[in-house]
Formats: sequence, C-alpha cells, structure tokens
Amino acid sequence: MDTYDVVIVGSGPAGMGAAFSLIRKNPQAHILMIDQEKFSTGGMRNDCKMNFTYPIGFPEEYWSKEQAEEYLEEVTEFLKPDIMPKCNIEIYQRRAQRLGCSLLEIRQTHLGTDGGLRLIKQLLAKLQDHGVDLSLGEAMLSVDEQEKTIRTDKREIGFRTLLVAPGRKGFHFLQQLMHTLGVPFVDNIVDIGIRVETRIEHYPIVRDYYDPKFYFPEKVRTFCTNSGNAHVVKERYATERGDIWYSVNGHAYSADTSRDTGLVNFAILKTVRFTAPLASGQAFAENLGMQAALMGGGKPLMQRVGDFRLGSRSKEGSFNSDLYDFEPSLRDCCPGDISLAMPAKILRAIWKAMKNLDTIVPGVLHPSTIMYYPEIKLYANKPQYQDDYFQVAPDIFFAGDGAGTSRGITAAWASGIRAARGIARRLDS
Ligand SMILES: Cc1cc2nc3c(=O)[nH]c(=O)nc-3n(C[C@H](O)[C@H](O)[C@H](O)COP(=O)(O)OP(=O)(O)OC[C@H]3O[C@@H](n4cnc5c(N)ncnc54)[C@H](O)[C@@H]3O)c2cc1C
Repeated sequence: MDTYDVVIVGSGPAGMGAAFSLIRKNPQAHILMIDQEKFSTGGMRNDCKMNFTYPIGFPEEYWSKEQAEEYLEEVTEFLKPDIMPKCNIEIYQRRAQRLGCSLLEIRQTHLGTDGGLRLIKQLLAKLQDHGVDLSLGEAMLSVDEQEKTIRTDKREIGFRTLLVAPGRKGFHFLQQLMHTLGVPFVDNIVDIGIRVETRIEHYPIVRDYYDPKFYFPEKVRTFCTNSGNAHVVKERYATERGDIWYSVNGHAYSADTSRDTGLVNFAILKTVRFTAPLASGQAFAENLGMQAALMGGGKPLMQRVGDFRLGSRSKEGSFNSDLYDFEPSLRDCCPGDISLAMPAKILRAIWKAMKNLDTIVPGVLHPSTIMYYPEIKLYANKPQYQDDYFQVAPDIFFAGDGAGTSRGITAAWASGIRAARGIARRLDS
C-alpha cells in the first residue's frame, strides 16, 4: 500500500491552492492528488471568472475581512490576475443607493471556459513538475480514521494527513464522511433563484463592468454574469435516492467578437436560512429542483418576462414571435410558468429585485428577457471545525465549496491554502 504525507482529494481550486502552498512550504512532503474525473469539474473549467475582493466568495462565518484579504494576497501573487477595467460605476451606484440597493465594486478577471481549461492543464503540469503524484479518474469512497487510510475505487492509500475538497458535487459524499467521522454539521442555508438571459443592449452595464454585483433587500443578489460568447447551461444533480434534477448555470468563452452570441446571462439568487424544525436546506433545495423537473418533463423551466407579466405560461410559440426576438441559448429547457414551481416568498423577492434592477439599468425587463428556473447553489454544509485550519478530525481537513468554506474559485483557493497551513503544522509536529 502506498502511503503519502498528504493525500488531497479533489483537483479543483481548493485542492490546487493547498497543493501549491504545501509545495512551497514543505518541498520534501510526499503528496498525492486524486480526482474522480480526468479533469477538475468546477468553476475553473466553467467560465473561470475570478473575484479578488472580499466578501465575494467568502462565507462570512468562516472569514473576517482581514483574514480573507491576507489569503487573497497569496492567491493573487500566485495567479497573477489581469484585472478588468470598469467605468461609470458611480452612476449605477447612485441609482442603486436611491432604491435601497447597492453595487459592489470588485476586482475581477475573466479567462473564459477555454482559458480556464488551459489554466487547469498548466497547473496540473506544474504540480507534476514539482513531484506531486496525480491520479485522475480515481474516486475516494471512504476513510478509516484509525488506520489512516482511504479506500478509492482502485486501491487503499495510507496518509499522514488528508485533505478532502470535493466541491459542490461532493456535497453528499462529504455528509457521508462526516457521519463516518462523527463530525457534527448543519446545512441550513441555501441560495435559490433564476438565471436571466437577455440581449446585451438590454443590460448594457456589462460593457462597463463585466460581472456587476448588485445587492437588493431581502438577501437577493446578482451573481455570475456572463456576456459575449455566453451560454446558459444545465447541471445534472442526483438526490441521495437517485432522483435526477437540474440546476441552470451560465458561462462564457474568452473574448472573441466573431463568436459573440450578443447575449448576457446572470443569476438572481435569494439566500434562505432555515431554522428548526427543518433539518436540511439541501433537502429543501432538492425538493424544489425535483418540483421544477416534474413540471418541465425532466427539464428546467424557462419563461419570457412578457409572458410572466401577463400571468401566462410560456409556450413553444413564445420563443419565435417578433417581440420575443432571440433564441434561448439553452434549448433543452421546457417553456412553462416558473411561478407554479417556485415558493411565493422567493419569487416575490426576486421579482422585486428585478424591478429594482430595471430601474438601475433600464431595459433588463424587456418582454423578450428569459427567466430560467431553478438555479440552486449547493454549498450549505457547515461542519464543526476543530481549529482555524478546517481540521475536522485528527489529521483530516476539509476545504472548498462542498465543505462550506467558499463559494467561488479564489475563496476555494484561499481555503485550500488555509487548510495547507494546518496540514504543514501537523507534518512538522
Ligand atoms: C458551471 C459552473 C460555473 C462556475 N463559474 C464560476 C466562476 O466563473 N467563478 C467562480 O468564482 N466560481 C464559479 N463557479 C463556482 C466554482 O466552481 C467553485 O466555487 C469552485 O470550483 C470550488 O472549488 P472546489 O475546489 O471546492 O471544488 P471543485 O472545483 O468542484 O473541485 C472538486 C473536485 O473534486 C472532485 N471530486 C468530487 N468528489 C470526489 C471523490 N469522491 N473522489 C475524488 N474526487 C472527487 C471533482 O471531480 C472535482 O474536480 C462555477 C461553478 C459551476 C458549476
């Protein structure tokens, strides 16, 4: 059986952040990184828009501003982002403020889905150059805390320290591990909303600010804006029982005007925090996903704003008349009525936010604008950590979105560095 000083599960930004930090501080450490896929499946591979300003991506219960900024410095130093310029921000900020909303000004870079793929390849090659053993296409199945081994679908591996960073798709897997390890956790917060798609001329702010972060009352915000060669996509999820549902998402390729769709898409999400007796925000979100799949014949729903305003469902015809003048970039979606599938409280808050947004950036509520539902973010696991470095059991650490320590690439990277500091302390002791 092979035994390593550090075994890292997951080659997303959390795993990468940890690996590069360890290489620098513990160059002698014998490190293995495994991933169940041949390639990281997270956001570095999809759009790769990176945010370098707190609190974007940093859950405030785990990160103070000072702490996040200290780690962000290290992330910035390593990734050397090419920060995108912004203009006319004050105009939008003033309008937002008058309505009780705000627009955050943040440092961003956008590599695009193609640029993200190139970056991942470079990073994996760099890890190998530094002597990290990589095993792609190998899935961790379980851990034996006493024996200090993990079982994968290929073998048993020994570890001195273990970092598990399986991302949002590893949500259930992490919950299973927490049950095995006896780690107390809650998952009571979830982000639920829609993805909006419209012509760029109906949301021209994106020419001034690539991914504008608006905050509205009732914990609603815009999130993950994509424009240029931009597309709405669907992500497949399975519940613990094996039921399938889809969340929509969006991405764009790097700037190439010859391939522009002329469209922009972004999410409007409401954060919902549950209290007793509801045990799991995740279970609630999955039920909503299943409900939408039930109404959409197994697909997500889409509705034109014009139909929504008239209280009518969208039909195939809503997608080819003269007013409804652009094709949805996600065709594999069911025209329908999102108000039949979405809880009233969430829908009311999101529609109100959209009306505010339409006052700040006039045009976004054009009748042709499409609302896709559901968009759900699964990063609600909140393990009880034993120290400041995301240790959950002796020599076992978690990091990244699946473990609730981040909600974006740069914060996931930072959480990997933070776990690596804890790991380095264990290796030195
Ligand atoms: C479509 C899409 C677009 C996004 N766009 C952006 C964006 O533009 N900007 C941004 O900041 N964030 C974006 N995000 C969010 C971003 O992906 C995450 O915040 C970030 O990737 C989290 O990093 P992570 O390392 O925690 O997890 P991930 O990046 O998800 O990596 C986890 C890795 O662990 C592997 N894994 C899971 N379980 C196991 C197992 N049992 N054994 C072995 N390996 C396993 C997975 O295959 C995966 O490669 C996007 C997410 C999606 C889904």
